[in-house]
Amino acid sequence: MADSEDFIKEFQKIADEERLGKNEDYFVSKQAQSDGDHEIHTSSCSDLPAEKNRKYLGCFNFCKDAEQEAKKYYEDVNGCIKCCPLCHARYY
Ligand SMILES: [Zn+2]
Repeated sequence: MADSEDFIKEFQKIADEERLGKNEDYFVSKQAQSDGDHEIHTSSCSDLPAEKNRKYLGCFNFCKDAEQEAKKYYEDVNGCIKCCPLCHARYY
């Protein structure tokens, strides 16, 4: 089953990132999504908003830290599913 192998690899990658961190530049979108969330992206994300539509948060090891920073500016923030899967969707 190639699908489940891919899933395991992806899960492993996320687990590594969770343990080691990524040390990347993070940005938050100034424009809210349709659900009202402001998405958080890394500088390398293909979905990173245009310069005028994003706010620089800083360089962090973990998207959770970027999320904390973003919450100073916006009440509802959410990690991008592509670059911040650990912070995507909120279960709390
Ligand atoms: Zn992203």
